[in-house]
Amino acid sequence: MAERRPNRYLGPGHDDFWAWCAKGELRLQRCGSCGKLSWPVSEGCEYCGSGALEWERMSGRGVIVSWASFVQDYYGGLLTVPYDTILVELEEGVLFTSDPLGFGADEIEAGMAVRLAFIDCEDEAGPFRLPVFERA
Ligand SMILES: [Zn+2]
Repeated sequence: MAERRPNRYLGPGHDDFWAWCAKGELRLQRCGSCGKLSWPVSEGCEYCGSGALEWERMSGRGVIVSWASFVQDYYGGLLTVPYDTILVELEEGVLFTSDPLGFGADEIEAGMAVRLAFIDCEDEAGPFRLPVFERA
């Protein structure tokens, strides 16, 4: 059953990101001008401003570099508190905020290896697949 989640950002660029997620692929934008990855989704490269961005598939491998447990209810009861959030450094070097799958904040150690997974979610715009990370 799909988990109800806060509404995603949608629109130019964001729609492409979620379409790749629906196919089970985590893709970020690589700049065709300077070669760097931009994240979050942008209409222009965060380093050089070029609009020549191409969607590149990430390996799905990374390590946890930071994490937090949220105890404050920011979403009107939509999410059950406390809930955990992790900051994953992708193998490609990008820092990606996500959810842990199958483990909690009390089990995390800095540098813990994780791999990409997807869970079925829904928001007011409909169903979507959320990129999360499980133990590698
Ligand atoms: Zn660039």
